[in-house]
Amino acid sequence: MFNVDLLIAGKNVPASNGATFERRNPLSEEVVSRAAAATPADAIAAVEAAAAAFKEWSQQGPGARRQLLLKAAQVLESKAPQFVDAVCQETGATGLWAGFNVHLAAGILLEAASLTTQITGEVIPSDVPGSLSMGVRQPAGVVLGMAPWNAPVILAVRAIATPLACGNTVVLKASELCPRTHQLIIESLQEAGFPPGVVNFVTNAPADAPAVVEAMIAHPAVRRVNFTGSTRVGRIIAASCAKHLKPAVLELGGKAPLVVLDDADLDVAVDAAAFGSFMNSGQICMSTERIIVDEKIADEFVARLVAKASGLPLGDPRGKDPVVLGSVVDRSTVVRCNALIDDAVAKGAKLLCGGKADSTLMPATLLDHVTPAMNIYRDESFGPVKPIVRVNGIEEAIACANDNEFGLSAAVIGRDVARALQVAGRIESGICHVNASTVHDEAQMPFGGVKSSGFGRFGGRAGVNEFTELRWVTVQTTPRHYPF
Ligand code: NAD
Repeated sequence: MFNVDLLIAGKNVPASNGATFERRNPLSEEVVSRAAAATPADAIAAVEAAAAAFKEWSQQGPGARRQLLLKAAQVLESKAPQFVDAVCQETGATGLWAGFNVHLAAGILLEAASLTTQITGEVIPSDVPGSLSMGVRQPAGVVLGMAPWNAPVILAVRAIATPLACGNTVVLKASELCPRTHQLIIESLQEAGFPPGVVNFVTNAPADAPAVVEAMIAHPAVRRVNFTGSTRVGRIIAASCAKHLKPAVLELGGKAPLVVLDDADLDVAVDAAAFGSFMNSGQICMSTERIIVDEKIADEFVARLVAKASGLPLGDPRGKDPVVLGSVVDRSTVVRCNALIDDAVAKGAKLLCGGKADSTLMPATLLDHVTPAMNIYRDESFGPVKPIVRVNGIEEAIACANDNEFGLSAAVIGRDVARALQVAGRIESGICHVNASTVHDEAQMPFGGVKSSGFGRFGGRAGVNEFTELRWVTVQTTPRHYPF
């Protein structure tokens, strides 16, 4: 069993009242981790440690910050076996997914290291004679990052890497479902040599989340907030940030459409649909959540996709044989997905493969002839249960793709790339891939959504803009004329 402490001012400490909470393996229900259940006072102590470290850290040159981030990438990658073990045990995900998480997370740290010398400003022409006028990017202060369990290494590293590169100090709030996985990231940064207080770590019992999060957002030293998680909680965080006037980056739910046009290369379409739908059992914010296919090619596409989906291996990720689908994160996913299947079938959808599950091992499931009357047309499954919607022509395909409250990722498959690109341009989403899967993330890309998928962008220069303060600074170089 893993014991997980808080990290405050460079010290591993239990909660001040000694409270802990447990995370159990979703399949065996054995206790995997026992973690400190921070009180709001502990969370405030973490923010204050970050505030105290800010003065010196924000004055470091880019070279020093770059060196630490480069080292952190190395240490993190060297811990791959521990990450794979923790991810599989805490979340039920496969070794394939855990390994990819570590690899991309190390890439995010490398990209952050490169960004340290890209935090530039500009000289802006002034109408005042002799005035040198500049737009200057400065570190913002303490950044609070809150990460989920589903891409646990990638999303928690993303929550703090660019903020650190920009000269901010950080507090990472772990997911209650994978405290050990998130702690391994913090240990990697500590081993790399980040000074005490620059990186702090808070774990909390699920019931304490509202009070712990509110206490941190309210603290005057916290100047930026980022949250990756559900739209439901994102609205709560946004309301709290509004109350305390804190800018936020919110990466929330999704219902990504994959549009298969009538001229699609069906091999490309099937591979993209299968990967986008079933990687990590569909528990990715960019997961394909609606397969929208032109009626002209639907029968052949569906037959090929069913053949592929039915053959995807499913099993305990802790076993010897590699699997594509492991355990979903908990029973609530099973209950939600089973209800979506029941509702769709009762309203006329055809179950093509997979089906309801009685454990957290859920098979790849496809439902054909899904209509707007069915819940799965609208609601995020966040599991391996995918609707196929048949449409006639481009206009119906675009209307269907946009007939949803979310707008994170999307994809369009078609041989006529100019036409596919036109379709992509009309889809309401922050991200859209032509002739590839809805699931695609790279450290340097502007990543984020529109509509109920949130706002703000992680990644590359867009991330620098989110986590720095843009200031206007002038120097008067000649005598200034004043009217009196
Ligand atoms: P969640 O929103 O249920 O939980 C996130 C965290 O919110 C929890 O760890 C909890 O500590 C905190 N929380 C809960 N209630 C709170 C409250 N009242 N006040 C403050 N904080 C509170 O999400 P999850 O189950 O961890 O993740 C799944 C969701 O995240 C999915 O909807 C998925 O689409 C989304 N997601 C989005 C992205 C993205 O980049 N857009 C990436 C991954 C996941």
